[in-house]
Amino acid sequence: MSKRISILGSTGSIGRQTLEVMEALGMEAAALAAHSNGKLLEEQARRFRPELAVLADEKAAADLRVRLADTNVRVLGGTEGLMEAAAHPGSDTAVAAMVGMAGLRPTLAAIREGKRIALANKETLVCAGTLVLEEAKDYGAQILPVDSEHGAIFQCLEGNRNRGEVKRLILTCSGGPFYGKKRRELQGVTREDALQHPNWSMGAKITVDSATLMNKGLEVMEAMHLYQMPVEKIAVVIHRESIIHSLVEYCDNAMLAQLGTPDMRLPIQYALTWPRRVPGGPSQPLDLWHCGPLTFGEPDLETFRCLTLALEAARTGGTAGAVLNGANEAAVGLFLEGRIGFLDIAERVALALDQVKAVENPALQDILEADREARQVVLAAR
Ligand code: NDP
Ligand code: MG
Repeated sequence: MSKRISILGSTGSIGRQTLEVMEALGMEAAALAAHSNGKLLEEQARRFRPELAVLADEKAAADLRVRLADTNVRVLGGTEGLMEAAAHPGSDTAVAAMVGMAGLRPTLAAIREGKRIALANKETLVCAGTLVLEEAKDYGAQILPVDSEHGAIFQCLEGNRNRGEVKRLILTCSGGPFYGKKRRELQGVTREDALQHPNWSMGAKITVDSATLMNKGLEVMEAMHLYQMPVEKIAVVIHRESIIHSLVEYCDNAMLAQLGTPDMRLPIQYALTWPRRVPGGPSQPLDLWHCGPLTFGEPDLETFRCLTLALEAARTGGTAGAVLNGANEAAVGLFLEGRIGFLDIAERVALALDQVKAVENPALQDILEADREARQVVLAAR
């Protein structure tokens, strides 16, 4: 069970919810890190009194240093600061809750200190899953999933002694705000339309990924790495209510599922308290009498092309995950800036997968290069 925690991305949706869980359970903060939101990080630092507060943006860090001058919180900036927060000697657990590939190096720094990693930052595994898991093994760092689907699968696999008995992992998918729509109806959808998620309140990037279903594609790759399963043994089922968080189907056709209210604080809490379960956390119990019927369906792979592209990249392997992810991060950035349309996201990701050749058994350098090239293709396209 975690006691002292460093959060990479403490001002984000996952970071803030992690602090709620920590406060309810009496866990302490060793280091808090974010990109540039100095106002919120100052509030968090005053409330949780970590030894270290970090902003990747140097200017914002300099400003925060002045604002926290009356406390004994040390303030650092830049990548070096992030690495120090990740590897902080006073923490037993690092919560990887930064968004995107930027989380890879700090996560590796925490792994190399043998810390428990409560991992929300799925992009890290999509880009460099093999490397991250190898290092975790070498340094004895435990990786516990925060993503609700992977947390559910983790729980459905507990007690299973033989992975050969697992037939399939089944990831549930809410379908996002555009569920049921066809491609032509998605032509003119706006940033605001895409940012309306039916069940979850999350950061902008993952909310757009949930609208394109790229999020589910990234999650398939995340599950491949975390549970050492081939893509053929991972299925996606549409489940609009987000009550069943995912399932495992065994070879005797028994299915195990994990249920709960759609509240990220529940998987965050379990990643911090594992192997124990403790009462007193902030999430609410699920009311089965009133939660209504649960429905299931097939994803529409023709309309939601990002999911199809991700499944293809998963089959290709090597640096294809880094290319897919880098292209998607760049394309979602352009969409959020109003510079490309919703359907262009998939077009640009497809272009990058086409133009950047995948390298097998990549080293970290190959992964960073694939990410860079993919972003370049997306930004240069017209
Ligand atoms: P948010 O956008 O809400 O938060 C991102 C956090 O990362 C912020 O604290 C931000 O700081 C920080 N950050 C961003 N870029 C950098 C950088 N270059 N250096 C340092 N810090 C940085 O994202 P979410 O919390 O929604 O998502 C975080 C991760 O968790 C993602 O990988 C997402 O896929 C995953 N996840 C999220 C879920 C959710 O419910 N939100 C569910 C499952 C997974 P600042 O505020 O200063 O910009
Ligand atoms: Mg998820």
